[in-house]
Amino acid sequence: MRYISTRGGAPALDFRGVTLAGLASDGGLYVPEEWPVLSKDEIAALSGLSYADTAFAICRRFTGDSIPDADLKRLIDEAYASFDHAAVTPLVQLDARHFLLELFHGPTLAFKDVALQFLGLLFEHFLKDAGRHLTIVGATSGDTGSAAIQALAGREHVDVFMLHPEGRVSDVQRRQMTTVMAPNIHNIAISGTFDDAQAMVKRMFGDTDVTSRFEISAVNSINWARLMAQVVYYFYAAVRLGAPHREVAFSVPTGNFGDVFAGYVAARMGLPVARLIVATNINDILHRALSAGDYSAGTVTPTAAPSMDIQVSSNFERLLFDLAGRDGAKLTAMMQAFDASKMLEIPADMRAQAAERFTSYRVDEDEMALTLRWASEMAGNIIDPHTAIGLAAARAADLDPAIPVVTLATAHPAKFRDAVERATGVRPVLPARLSGLFDREESFTSLPGDYAAVRDFVTARATPR
Ligand SMILES: *Cc1c(COP(=O)(O)O)cnc(C)c1O
Repeated sequence: MRYISTRGGAPALDFRGVTLAGLASDGGLYVPEEWPVLSKDEIAALSGLSYADTAFAICRRFTGDSIPDADLKRLIDEAYASFDHAAVTPLVQLDARHFLLELFHGPTLAFKDVALQFLGLLFEHFLKDAGRHLTIVGATSGDTGSAAIQALAGREHVDVFMLHPEGRVSDVQRRQMTTVMAPNIHNIAISGTFDDAQAMVKRMFGDTDVTSRFEISAVNSINWARLMAQVVYYFYAAVRLGAPHREVAFSVPTGNFGDVFAGYVAARMGLPVARLIVATNINDILHRALSAGDYSAGTVTPTAAPSMDIQVSSNFERLLFDLAGRDGAKLTAMMQAFDASKMLEIPADMRAQAAERFTSYRVDEDEMALTLRWASEMAGNIIDPHTAIGLAAARAADLDPAIPVVTLATAHPAKFRDAVERATGVRPVLPARLSGLFDREESFTSLPGDYAAVRDFVTARATPR
């Protein structure tokens, strides 16, 4: 399996290469040269498999010669042993047609663990024999950072520099990052928004002064291996609900377009996905793009679902690449125009293609709170604000009532307990593995929203190539 850049100007790499590289050297994102397709029989054969065995069956379609099957199996088994539910991602029925796919049973209580527990082990596997050292530089709206830090703390061949927007992540999210005391973990609080932090990370990837001295890589969902790991739970859930013999729809609380893009990949691989519902909060660039072709970045408004407080969705480029007929030159022109003006009109033919698979909804704070209450009072389930946005969109979607709709439950309610308590009157309790979080010491560095300050901080502490 070979991977190509969405901008057509970087060398094709194998799975190992894209896992270690993160972003492509031409500023694009790596995607498989072709989508692997599973036959109906192959999908039917996933029925009854454990989560880890499903993950092995799906991931080996993407790993090629980069990793022997036995090693892949071992890393997957180890990654998912850290989850505190035997099903890893259990499916919970809310009413006749709505289901939640609980993705928050990992160490940091958000779906990011599903991919990052595995990615941490993949990094170690690929680096240890090569004697290489990676410098991970990432921006987080809260959940990626904690999951990455948890997955990489204390690992010998990796340093982690994680930027979060100061004061814009929940106290639980911040403490999950800043209380991890390991010499290879560096937390940086940036004054500004997630998008400001993300822009600095992107700039560092293009800064040859940095990249010539350090091997910089990413754990954001621009890293292909993360998306690959997320494709698995779409298969796992759909097969449980009757795929390949029955269609299933998914509603996905969306920020950087990574999670829902994994659903798109599953559909391209042959999974009968009736619809992918892109649920946004009031930071609605993706809803505007998909419903009206208006991909233009506004300013970020902080909400109770901070992991979706994003205006520029990196992974949308991967979808645009397919919609543009995989024409790297065309996409480069589009993305350069977007970078210059922060505006892009999605051409009508591309929009029409997207509309065959995607529907989008924008859910405001009131509707989010009403849905939290509905889940609590009518379905007996306390959910988190991100999940509530997905569920609100799922309930609003105009679909054949015979099609089950799975909302991805992306975070445990205790991770956002203030917002949950405001809406439902119930204060969710932190799971046992996080008790003591508020007694631990924190360590982080506050930096201004200034690229040079961040670059100097990183280069003074990272391990050179
Ligand atoms: C990261 C995150 C999202 C958004 O996922 P994307 O892949 O960025 O679209 C939604 N909910 C929660 C809880 C998250 O942590």
